[in-house]
Formats: sequence, C-alpha cells, structure tokens
Amino acid sequence: MKNLFQKFHFNTHVESPHSDESFNRSKALNFSILLLPFFTLVTPFLVFLENYSYGIFHLEIIIGILGILLVSLLCSAGMRYGGFIGKNILGFALVTFFLSIQFGSSGEIVFTFMLLGVALLLLIFKDNFLLIAASIFATFFIVTLGQAFAPKGVRNLEFARHQVATGSVPFPRLIHIVLDEHIGLEGIPTDLPEGVTVKKQLREFYEKYGFTTFGGAYSRYFHTVNSLPNLLNFSSASKARMYIGQDDSPNKLLQNTYFERLSQAGYRLNVWWGHHVDYCSHSPVPIDNCIQVPAEGLKTSHRLPLNTFERVQLVFSAYLNLSKIYQRGRDYYQSFRNGIIPYGVSLPSATWDRHTVTALPYLFTLDDLWENILDLPEGNAVFAHLLIPHYPYVANSDCTIKGSINEWKYSSLLFTPHYPFREGMHNTEDSRKTHYQEYFKQVRCIYMKLDELFEKMDHAGIFENAVIVIHGDHGSRIVKREPTIENEYELSREDIVDAYSTLFAVKFPNQVGYYETQPFPIEFLLQEKVVKPLLEEKGNVLPPDPFVFLRSEDRKILDLKPIPYPITH
Ligand SMILES: [Zn+2]
Repeated sequence: MKNLFQKFHFNTHVESPHSDESFNRSKALNFSILLLPFFTLVTPFLVFLENYSYGIFHLEIIIGILGILLVSLLCSAGMRYGGFIGKNILGFALVTFFLSIQFGSSGEIVFTFMLLGVALLLLIFKDNFLLIAASIFATFFIVTLGQAFAPKGVRNLEFARHQVATGSVPFPRLIHIVLDEHIGLEGIPTDLPEGVTVKKQLREFYEKYGFTTFGGAYSRYFHTVNSLPNLLNFSSASKARMYIGQDDSPNKLLQNTYFERLSQAGYRLNVWWGHHVDYCSHSPVPIDNCIQVPAEGLKTSHRLPLNTFERVQLVFSAYLNLSKIYQRGRDYYQSFRNGIIPYGVSLPSATWDRHTVTALPYLFTLDDLWENILDLPEGNAVFAHLLIPHYPYVANSDCTIKGSINEWKYSSLLFTPHYPFREGMHNTEDSRKTHYQEYFKQVRCIYMKLDELFEKMDHAGIFENAVIVIHGDHGSRIVKREPTIENEYELSREDIVDAYSTLFAVKFPNQVGYYETQPFPIEFLLQEKVVKPLLEEKGNVLPPDPFVFLRSEDRKILDLKPIPYPITH
C-alpha cells in the first residue's frame, strides 16, 4: 500500500505531463530571457555594419559586440530578477529599440502604430511574447550573420558613358556644384585676420577663372531641406519642408522645376548626392546617372590613423543616432543635465555620440567626381550636392585629414565634448573664432581641389566652353544664437549673416566676370543669372525684397517667419 502510494505520489509529481510542461516552459522562458536582449541588440548592429559595408573583422567592432553582450547580460538579469515590471518593461524597451533602429525612417505615425502593436502583443501573449520574440530575433540574427559574412561588391562611382541624343544641338557642359555650408564672400567675418585672407583669396580665385561672383548672395533658409528644394523650384515658400514628403529620410524631392527646364531644353542630367535631399528617386524627369556618395561614409574612416577608442566612438555615434527613441532619450538627459547645473551638479554632457564623418566621404570622392566631370559629353549637366565645407572640419588647408577625431571641429559648441552650458548659446566669442579658423582650413582645401579641376578641364580644352555654377545653401552657421522664432529679439546682425550669407558664382563661355555686393537671394540668382542666359529666355525680373525666414524650435510647427536681411541692430 505504502509502495503504491509512493508510486502514485511519484507519478503525480514527477511524471505528470502537465507539471513537466510547466517546468519546460519556465526553462524555455529563462532561456528566452537570456537570449532575447542579445539578439535584439546585436542584430540591428550587424544590419547597420552591413548597410555601411563596414565589415565585422575590426577591433572596434569586436569591442563593440562585447559591449553589447555586457549590456544584454544586464538586461537579462533585470528581466530575470526584476519581477513582472522588469520582465515586461525591458522586453518592450528592447523590441522598441530594435524597431526604432530598423524602421526609424518610416515616419512617426507608422512607428507609433508599431509600438502600440508591440504593446498589444505583449498584453495578449504575456510570457509567450518573450518566447516568440526570442525565436524571431534568433532567426533574424542567423540570417543577418550569414549576410554579414557574404562577399561584398565594390561600389562604382563612375557615370555610365553615353552618347548625346542625336539631332539635339549640343549645349555647353553645365557643371553645377552646391557647396553645403559655404558662406558668401561678403559674409566672411573680416574681424578675424584669417577671414580677411580667405575673402581675398576666394575673390581672386573666381576672378582668375572668369566667374561673376555675387558676394552679397544669401539663402532665405537656415536648413538645407528648405533651402535647396526652394532654390530648385525658384521659390521662397513660407512653409517648411515644401516639395519634400513628411518624415522621410532621406527627404525625397517631389518637385524640381530647374531639372524639368534643363531636361525640356534637351540636357541630360547626372546627379551626385549623399545627404539631406534625394534628387533622384522621385525626379519628374529622367536622370541618366544618380550616384549616392556612401551614406555617412563611415567606412572612409578606415583610411585614417585613428586609435581604436576613436573608431568605437565613431561607429557607435553613427549607430545609436539611427534610433529616434535613443535620440529623444539623450535629449531628455541633456535638458535634465542642463537643468540641474544651477544647483551645483554637473553631469557629463551628452556629446559622446556626436561624432560624425559627414564631410569625409565627399572629400575622399572628389577626385572621382572630377574624373566624371572631365569625361562628361556636351549636352550634359552634372548637379553635385557636396557636404563640404560642412562640419566636421576634418581637413587641413592642403586637404590632408586631421589624424584624431578630437581635432575635428564643429560649427557649434553643442557638438563639442564638455560643452560649457550657456543658456542655449551655440558659440561664445572665442569658440566662434576658433570654429571659423578650422572652417577656413576646410574652405581652402576645397579651393585647392577646384583649382585642380579647372586646370585639368583647361588642359582638356573643355573649361572655356563650360557653364559652371558654384554656390552654397546657407551660411557657415557658426552662429552665437540659432536663428529661430524664439530667439528673434536676441539675434545680432552677425548671427544673421553667419546663418544666411552664402556663396554664388557663375561662369559662362567667353564672358568677362565681375564682382557684385548687392544682397540677392540665391533662387533669384539661379533664375536670372543662370537659367535665363543659359536657355536664352527673355524678360527681366526685379530683385525681390531682402528677407530671410526663421523657423520655430518646435519642429512640428511648419510656418516660417520672415525678417529683413540683413537686420540692422
Ligand atoms: Zn546645408
């Protein structure tokens, strides 16, 4: 009887299929808790390396993956021992982080629905959610790993050669170069000795090559996404993000009057771009060649003699900033950090992730672009939007690259490690000066390269007959205060000039250039001084009133506020 009872007891407690299942389930749940954080965190990192063709076998990547492993183990511990809240909140946060990296560019509305979807699934499936998620992310991880090891092709930055359409009158080659963040000649601060020299050198450079230079040119907008779409449509809309879709990254240009008119006249179009505005995917007219300079160009940092720690910083700056959720968290931290400074508490400034290589890929691929220009048949136009002399100021005057990311400078103190908080000021008197000194080095590097291009074109006998337009899209933006509606009454004349003054120079075949100081907006100059003479259109338009637009700090407010340019106080 006793044996029988023991047997029965044994059976119910150990061999019962139900109990066995719950034991296995809790084992599986613990296993998911251990694996889920690692797979959700490492998979988007591998996808990121794949998208940037960065490669895995680098010391900085091994260190990065070990760092991710450490964070994953901490998350696993939090989920295992943090009770209901630890398990669910961390599970939700991990999946959210993953989605924000993978689908961050899909727009806020889509993203909010995704988050609601995750929350709903978590409510319905409870613990099963973690089991399901772990299996999905494990699969995703294995697929990604397979891709990461697959051999990569080399990107070709060459325009495909083609014949000019038969029967069309060959137009002169049109070389249109946008130098992002290039200040106008009259805007260059001459209270700095380097400014006086650079202004003189630039004026002489354009004179030497027969350009007409509009030293007083300015953009009506502080941001590229407003400046260039309006310029290309010869407009000055008082709404932000005209001609480009909402929440798209990169911003797809939906209307392009300039390209349409060139195309209608018979020009073949070739585009070279990389950031901010995608000129090709929604172009109203065919584009023969559209070359995108590798996004972020992180891979180009391989060529630099940086130390491993700097490489880790560069990689993680680019990676983390893909997540809008992360960016928002970082911004909250920064506001909190600034808010408690008056109480004598100084936390580290959130600048560890502000390193970017933006200008580098453009500098490294200039020679390829020059080759394409030299090969360009008549009847072709090339439109190149280059993020130089845009920050970071990585180049010396002779175009050698500064060997440490600590020497790279930015337009604002906000990007500078150990940012001394001064009520939202972008620059002090001193930092404005030092930032301009570094900016001028990058400007000089570009002119060294442009000089090489023009010499080569001249040598090939194609310089004189080419039409060349070179201009900026806004000022150097080395401002003390950002030109926003909120800051309107604190802005100085100097701020407005630093923000909006921009380059505009144009050269036509067999023309004597001149220098003009009057303040003309760039959309007027493109229309009147480039398109009309090029396409032999008639009629004259009076220069419009000089004004620029301020934008609200609240990015959701799209209405812009016009103020006179330049202001007099
Ligand atoms: Zn810009």
